[in-house]
Amino acid sequence: MSRDDDGILSPPPSASEEMAGRREANSDVEATLFEGVRTSDGSPVEPVKLTLDDAFKFRCHKGVSCWNACCHGADVTLSPYDILTLAKHFSVRPSQFIADFTLPALHEGSGLPVTKLVMTEKDGKGPCVFMHEENGCSVYDARPATCRYYPLGLGAYKLKGHEEREDMHFLVKEAHCEGHKEEQQQTVGEFRSDQGIEPYDLLNQRWIDILMKMTSWKTMGGPMGKDVSTQTKKMFYMVSTDIDAFRRFVFETKFLETYDIDDDMIEAVRTKDEALLQLGFDWLKNVMFNEETLSLREPVLQQAIAAARDEMGGS
Ligand code: SF4
Ligand code: SF4
Repeated sequence: MSRDDDGILSPPPSASEEMAGRREANSDVEATLFEGVRTSDGSPVEPVKLTLDDAFKFRCHKGVSCWNACCHGADVTLSPYDILTLAKHFSVRPSQFIADFTLPALHEGSGLPVTKLVMTEKDGKGPCVFMHEENGCSVYDARPATCRYYPLGLGAYKLKGHEEREDMHFLVKEAHCEGHKEEQQQTVGEFRSDQGIEPYDLLNQRWIDILMKMTSWKTMGGPMGKDVSTQTKKMFYMVSTDIDAFRRFVFETKFLETYDIDDDMIEAVRTKDEALLQLGFDWLKNVMFNEETLSLREPVLQQAIAAARDEMGGS
């Protein structure tokens, strides 16, 4: 949810099928990552594409008749940076936060394991585990990126042959949301800034790249159009949700003997979760897609070359 100038709670997260990848009909586009919201009958809401300078009318505050409606049965996939931020909010480590407040799920497009916020009641249609009837979101300052974005959706696509992905925003107008009838107007850029979205986008960027690439592979059959191994999926989940486990992996296995990581980086990842996350994403990209995000140390490289030569029968 976003808060307006009165310090009041704004929209929540039903904007949430979000991470659902789907095949894009346009053959020049590899894949889209976010699908936007669905209406109550399950059909997707038609998005209107917006640039950062486009303005839209919206305000959410305690006086709206739909107050808190959108924090019920919301589908909030947590990004790695959401998890770090929420864990800090509760002064626990991420693994404890995950155990207390989330449920495991599969990312629809890529099939990779992710985690979602618990919605209460048996059918998961009840209020978010963090919602307070009277005051709204109880973790407002640490709320997830999905909640910050609403009622904007974020789409991402990559043109064939291009390495960089393109992001686009769209406005989600769900029938129950009265905030669109308010007079307050802001540009997409102003809204993003008010909601503090930037650091989330920055720190999650490479994670989203991974989801997107896997989605593309699965839907269109990439160069190695096949599923990744169960072990790799476990590694993806570990980096995404349990940074302490990944730190043990880096410092207590042969990781640092295998990869050429400079000393400053080693020092940074020893203590800084955010830096370690980025190393984790680089490692995943290397392992999953063979991207040159990490270099092998010279002896490891020589061994690999020798093994490849043997395999080819060379000398
Ligand atoms: S439905 Fe819309 S206006 Fe109502 S509380 Fe949620 S975001 Fe605010
Ligand atoms: S964290 Fe929960 S209560 Fe807070 S805005 Fe998101 S869905 Fe609503």
